[in-house]
Amino acid sequence: MIRHLAAAALLALAAAAPGGSAPVLAAPATSAPSGVWYEIFVRSWYDTDGDGIGDLNGVTAKLDYLQSLGVSGIWLMPINPSPSYHGYDVTDYYAINPQYGTMADFERLLREAHKRGIKVIIDLVINHTSDRHPWFVAARDPADPHHDWYSWAGPHTDLHAEDAAGAQAWHALGKAYYLGDFSSNMPDLDYDTPALRKEMVKLGQYWLKKGVDGFRLDAAQHIYYDFKADADNPLILKKNLAWWSEFRRGLDQVNPAAYVVGEVTRDSADELAPYFKPLDAVFDFPLAVQLIDSAKSERAGNLGALLAHADTAYRKVAGKSGVDAPFLSNHDQDRVMSQLDGNPQHMRMAAAMLLTLPGHPFVYYGEELGMRGSKPDPDLREPMRWNRVPDAPGETTWKSFTAHDGPQVSVQAQQGDADSLLHYYAMLIHWRRELPALRDGAIRPWATDNPHIAAWQLDDANDHVLVVHNLSGQAQSLALDEQPFRSVRLRSRPDTRLRHGRLSMAPYSTAILQ
Ligand code: CA
Repeated sequence: MIRHLAAAALLALAAAAPGGSAPVLAAPATSAPSGVWYEIFVRSWYDTDGDGIGDLNGVTAKLDYLQSLGVSGIWLMPINPSPSYHGYDVTDYYAINPQYGTMADFERLLREAHKRGIKVIIDLVINHTSDRHPWFVAARDPADPHHDWYSWAGPHTDLHAEDAAGAQAWHALGKAYYLGDFSSNMPDLDYDTPALRKEMVKLGQYWLKKGVDGFRLDAAQHIYYDFKADADNPLILKKNLAWWSEFRRGLDQVNPAAYVVGEVTRDSADELAPYFKPLDAVFDFPLAVQLIDSAKSERAGNLGALLAHADTAYRKVAGKSGVDAPFLSNHDQDRVMSQLDGNPQHMRMAAAMLLTLPGHPFVYYGEELGMRGSKPDPDLREPMRWNRVPDAPGETTWKSFTAHDGPQVSVQAQQGDADSLLHYYAMLIHWRRELPALRDGAIRPWATDNPHIAAWQLDDANDHVLVVHNLSGQAQSLALDEQPFRSVRLRSRPDTRLRHGRLSMAPYSTAILQ
């Protein structure tokens, strides 16, 4: 669930001084090599039994596609039983949505993914349940132990209090009122109740024992942040962090290497930073806005300053790399290609920036094809396009297309076209495998007075590389004679060259210098 994100709000930071003279930062504390993750909406992915709804066997069937793309892990949006199409209101945390398959199907998916070196994390939606969850049904009886698992209004409660998004927080049920921060269908769980906390730790352990490699935590800040008035309340933040630390300790008992990434929809790195302590990462929402803005405007703008600021803020808190989970857009936002008004060159530059950042970049399914989609939400989550024709076997048909993308926006068409966006994504992801500094290096923005160039240096123990993007449609030339970089190691276009200390960048191109 997403809320409380002023999409255009960006940190207005002064640009770094030219000359790339920012201080060198320490290497990230992460030990395992980081990879690219891929977000899948199972309902829209691939259908193996002909009912038009994507299923877990469909995820298994397409693991080879993901492997050829080069992804190291997948995030499955909610797979638990739920009355809604999206699944963000769960009725049984220990079961599989029967529309998606069975537990045996899921176990097979885990085995097949792991065989291919692909990790699997699942969405954990535990800020709230469905109002049809048996716990909530039982909770209506004040004598039932589950009553305390939810929040009920008392005699002095302000029933008109605004929830985090400014809507009504309290919902009537007979003579009682319960808290539902997202909607009346999603009653909030009360994490002051020890039995609930115990239950949720047990739940996390259950899925880790099953073999999942971690979790994406939905609405991670809303565990205690329920009311608009608490947006910047330090006590609320402290309680959130205490809960997620307790949860993390529980996970550690089963698998200390589990990867846990949180959805914290905040506009600045300073607000995201505290969550890096209990969690491995949080999605970098402010960076996503800036990456798309830079691609669209063909100007780096605040990108360098934003990267430096985030890195500093996160290191101060957690001693680890500041761009651990960058992304461009997810299931709650207009698709990147739509935000970029269908401009294919801007799309490539957005992808190139994302995939040359250190950490675990996340790709939203269909992004690699340039699928479009604009709000409302269901239109952001349309069927993955496997074939040129949308009614070919395997295509999901639960929803019709609103974006009216042509047959070229399909895996079938783009696999056969060496110049496709799909091949571009695969190329960029494979660059990361070839050059470890690209994925795990410490980042240091590299300042230039050319506004069309976005550049950063990545340093690990063995290597120093310079990532340079020409965001513009014109060739650009950069003087590098005082820099230690002597050769172009990787480039997106053959007409990008480094000669006599001068780098000539083709329009809309990326080069990695060593
Ligand atoms: Ca199906």
